[in-house]
Amino acid sequence: VHIDAGSAFSCDKPSENSCAAESSAPEYRIVVVGGGPLCTYAVGQLAALLPSSPPPCPVRIDIVDRSGCPGAGEVHSDRQAPTSYLNRVAGQIALAADESAEPPVKLLPRRLRPTFLEWCREQYAITGDPDYDLAPEDVPKRHVHGRALRDVFERVVEHIRAVPGVSAVVHVGEAVDLEPSGPDGTFVLHKNGGEPLRAHDVLFVTGHSTNRPAPGSAEESLSRYAERTPGAHWIGTPYPLAEQLDERVSPPGSTVILRGLGLSALDVMLHLTEGRGGRFVPDETVGEHGLRYVRSGREPESIVGTSPSGAPVWGRPVNHKVADPEAEHRGVFFTVEAVRQLRSRFGHTRASGGRRPLDFAEHLLPLVVLEMAYVYYATSLGPVRAAELRAGLVASHEAFLRGESEWGTAAADRLTALATQEARRAGHRGAAFDWRTALDPASPEEAGPDRDWHALVRGRLAADFARCREGNVRNPVKAAADGVWRDLRAVFSEAVDDGGLVARSHRDFDTRILRWYNRLSNGPGLEPSAKLLALVDAGLIDLAVGPEPRIEPLGDGTPGFQVVGRHTGVSRRGTTVVEARAYPFDPWLDSGPLYRNLLLRGLVRQWRNSGGDPPDYMPGALDLDASYHAVRRDGTVEPRMVFLGAPAEGLRVFQLTAARPHANSAVLNNAARWAEEVVARMYRAGAPLRSEPGMGREPDEEREPKP
Ligand SMILES: Cc1cc2nc3c(=O)[nH]c(=O)nc-3n(C[C@H](O)[C@H](O)[C@H](O)COP(=O)(O)OP(=O)(O)OC[C@H]3O[C@@H](n4cnc5c(N)ncnc54)[C@H](O)[C@@H]3O)c2cc1C
Repeated sequence: VHIDAGSAFSCDKPSENSCAAESSAPEYRIVVVGGGPLCTYAVGQLAALLPSSPPPCPVRIDIVDRSGCPGAGEVHSDRQAPTSYLNRVAGQIALAADESAEPPVKLLPRRLRPTFLEWCREQYAITGDPDYDLAPEDVPKRHVHGRALRDVFERVVEHIRAVPGVSAVVHVGEAVDLEPSGPDGTFVLHKNGGEPLRAHDVLFVTGHSTNRPAPGSAEESLSRYAERTPGAHWIGTPYPLAEQLDERVSPPGSTVILRGLGLSALDVMLHLTEGRGGRFVPDETVGEHGLRYVRSGREPESIVGTSPSGAPVWGRPVNHKVADPEAEHRGVFFTVEAVRQLRSRFGHTRASGGRRPLDFAEHLLPLVVLEMAYVYYATSLGPVRAAELRAGLVASHEAFLRGESEWGTAAADRLTALATQEARRAGHRGAAFDWRTALDPASPEEAGPDRDWHALVRGRLAADFARCREGNVRNPVKAAADGVWRDLRAVFSEAVDDGGLVARSHRDFDTRILRWYNRLSNGPGLEPSAKLLALVDAGLIDLAVGPEPRIEPLGDGTPGFQVVGRHTGVSRRGTTVVEARAYPFDPWLDSGPLYRNLLLRGLVRQWRNSGGDPPDYMPGALDLDASYHAVRRDGTVEPRMVFLGAPAEGLRVFQLTAARPHANSAVLNNAARWAEEVVARMYRAGAPLRSEPGMGREPDEEREPKP
């Protein structure tokens, strides 16, 4: 579906395409702040609900998005660089709620809710564009996801506009403030241009933002230095890549220092190479990754990759679970039930709220490690002998849950040794599972002045690539990482969400353990991983600095920066530093004023983990009730203000993600619950005597073939 540059959804110009039905009856006003995937899911659910029975009063929906790509948003914008990939496979991307929702939700007509893969097939049939020619296991480009999101968004907004008395207006602009009440008890949302908007209900889905450097931080001193030093560049966010990283700040022949070695870093690496005209050509002589990089001559001379770990995130294996969802791992030892038992027996009793928080490293890491060991051995043993292995471990697991053995790393060592012993008894003959290496495939402890860290990481990346090719069901190392850290995310949520950990442990979880999650199960797919190796082999990516780097401006009067590896002693100089990472949600440091104003007005407050011994921990998240309603400064709940995604991250885990189809997606369910609440409120406000529309699953209203 072509999106007309002049339409209400154009990226290029602001739109106030109001088709509000003129009516003297008071309008019910709904505002959505943020136009990314969560907005598309939420507006899609309004579009599923509203047509089923005519609204009792005129309804107006305003969507405010500053990216200029409403429906897709900044991260998944259809203007993202053509070299940037998603980190999930095409077969695991939803664009709207589906029949798997529990409890069932009202669904859009089938033609309005294709999965991403169905949408791509539709587009490929129409256009023949190879971008859309994707198999379920392929990892798509982000801008293609953006096109799909925008198209579905456009379709659902049109669907809403077709309902008599309902209008939808898309604004390109930034929401900067919300006043608690307008003349008739509504909110008033202020934008950085145009008329303020009245709102009975406001949904905030503002996603990732950029933070201002924290006072006294390394980022602050680097940015200040760059501001006063011509020729030195500090780039706070690399997005949009084409604007932030053009040849002015990273000219051919320059050295660019990246702070971060995750997915944003890979976006930058590919943009500065392939995006500058370089090519990847097939070459079987280079190793399993099979790609050789051919320079264009416009690349930087060197891209120095640095991060606390000193190693890029590990690749995501070929996903054989798309074709066979039954292959998803269901926990055996690290289970919701096990977490609940530990909590009731050993949770901290001095915590407020009755949640009895645990200590992740002490109580739960041993179970995570045991589960990984089990999946590792079970993968090579096969199902029959895996059952023997499981049976051999039950007694030790139960003893651990009763607290009859040690906690923490001692328990992790003991349970792993037992798993190895039982696996040998069941016939395992390969390498033993080593939990430390499994969590940290290139540990900082291996770095030193006599060790070539670049070569070490290059070797581990190549070995990792070979495992990725075997896939997340067949390769024991990858099966253990994927089966525990991805498939058991609900168990992690049970452990961590809503103050599930004592404050000290929660901080440790956010700063150390979530890094394992990102490195083990959230990395790039096969194709971008192969490209990374090709760039390393071409001498363009330099990983020699190693773990725990220190960075500072050059002290010799030349414009630029120097980065030094704390363990390796290796130093590199460059004129440009790029913060290649996503910022955590921080309402006080956010580059926009919206959240600061909400805090100052007392409309929201930050969530505080005060479980266990002081000090408390404040991860940044807002205080929200179980349905993501705002908790005001005075502790009262405001159901008309709902925050999904980034502002909830830290209070709950895994909030920042695109939705998965046919998987009872929590992200889609949250959007659906919001839409149901809003429509119910609208009926109460507008027509107390008229019955509310049915919320249960109903047959699709339309079943005609897709266009
Ligand atoms: C670089 C990067 C890559 C990622 N890759 C993946 C991936 O491959 N797969 C995956 O599942 N997840 C990925 N994520 C996680 C990502 O957060 C989610 O996939 C998803 O984008 C979250 O959707 P959202 O709608 O909450 O936020 P976003 O997609 O961030 O959209 C929010 C929108 O709100 C706008 N906005 C913010 N503040 C205001 C304001 N005050 N006024 C008006 N508009 C505002 C923003 O400009 C943006 O357009 C990635 C994140 C980043 C940062």
